[in-house]
Amino acid sequence: MKEKVLILGAGYAGSVVANILAREFRNKIAKDELEITILDKSDININQGGFTFIPFELYTPEDITRPRKKLISPRVKAFYGNDGEVKTVDLQNKEITVKSDKRYTYDHLVIAMGCRADIDAVPGLAEDINTFYTSMEDAFKVRDLVKNINGGKVVVSVASMPIPCPGAPVKFTFMLESYLRNIKKNRDDVQLTLVWPMEPIGPPEFNKFVTGQLNEKNIEVIRNFPLANVDGAKKELTSKNGDKVNYDLLITVPPHKAPQVLIDSGLTDEKGWLSADKATLQYRGPAGNFDNVYVLGDLGPVEILKTGIGAHYQAIAVSQNLINDIYGNGIKTPYEGETGCPIVTEIETPNTMGKGYIATWRYGVPPAPFTTTKMGWFLYRMYYHIHWDISVKGMF
Ligand SMILES: Cc1cc2nc3c(=O)[nH]c(=O)nc-3n(C[C@H](O)[C@H](O)[C@H](O)COP(=O)(O)OP(=O)(O)OC[C@H]3O[C@@H](n4cnc5c(N)ncnc54)[C@H](O)[C@@H]3O)c2cc1C
Repeated sequence: MKEKVLILGAGYAGSVVANILAREFRNKIAKDELEITILDKSDININQGGFTFIPFELYTPEDITRPRKKLISPRVKAFYGNDGEVKTVDLQNKEITVKSDKRYTYDHLVIAMGCRADIDAVPGLAEDINTFYTSMEDAFKVRDLVKNINGGKVVVSVASMPIPCPGAPVKFTFMLESYLRNIKKNRDDVQLTLVWPMEPIGPPEFNKFVTGQLNEKNIEVIRNFPLANVDGAKKELTSKNGDKVNYDLLITVPPHKAPQVLIDSGLTDEKGWLSADKATLQYRGPAGNFDNVYVLGDLGPVEILKTGIGAHYQAIAVSQNLINDIYGNGIKTPYEGETGCPIVTEIETPNTMGKGYIATWRYGVPPAPFTTTKMGWFLYRMYYHIHWDISVKGMF
């Protein structure tokens, strides 16, 4: 009997797993002993990390998008659009239904469908939503707003946690500060405020570094401000504690949640995310315990930081565990919590060198003290180019 691996979502994590397995099992696939199938609602892959740079015109849409047919091994059966958009996930019966009503069965399942913004979770936010977090179109809208900042109070608000890449709003704020100072040359006319939903901004050394930079750059930071309401007419934010912040221009990172189809399929826990063992990434949730179902990337447990770097390491661990499962060798390869958060404190302009750093850590090993450097800026900028041919293809 042919063994079947089914991957839901051909974003970062799903693509890496598909490509690693296709390489490892090329002989089994050729002999028709194993089938790897990947499903996605869209045939275009977008590297969402690039959205942070679009407002400052540091990447183009061509830099941060690729057709999936150029990314996924031809050994993998790929279905996009109506045949790829997942509608129901039934773990008991090992059956997935898609929009076209086609059904897929599996022996091994990988759920990697990412997460999505939930703008309606904050009353009033939809009436004054400017965000670079949701789509290329929205990131370009923020570019147009940023280009036209001539003064006043600009607030970058993070509504709640968890979100994908919690460092990205901080990075955006620093890039905006650098842009206003060095490109628009009107920084002194603008009051810049970062509104943050909790006390620390990341792990201790990250928080320490970022706090120092916010002070140095005269960026106001308001912590412990979980967003409860936006009043677009009064241009006022209210927190769940009743605190108020006013603004002239609001840029928001909305709350995020797991894909609705997974919520509707009864797979999410009380916090709204897919629950899994933090080391094996096997599904452990309200639908039961399933050793043949792996959960990875942005839809995973709330305790696992949602970053592309983390998704990459999780994909490597899950691929190796699937290889172990299929060979039946009894070996387990744990995910050790490897993750990271790239930070930028200055963009490259005619007057300034760019400055960046990629802070990394894992379970029980927090990031070490760091600073941003010119080399860090170059490495991070370069990453966006090697992403497609090295990272997504699972070459490391
Ligand atoms: C603005 C921004 C900046 C970021 N910056 C960074 C950064 O600098 N560094 C970093 O490490 N990370 C960054 N991230 C986070 C990073 O992009 C994510 O952590 C990463 O993409 C997660 O990978 P994933 O495979 O879980 O999800 P995704 O890459 O989002 O892939 C999920 C896939 O599932 C598909 N899908 C969803 N629903 C369905 C359905 N019903 N049926 C079929 N397919 C479906 C989607 O189309 C998508 O292709 C950033 C994110 C954002 C939004």
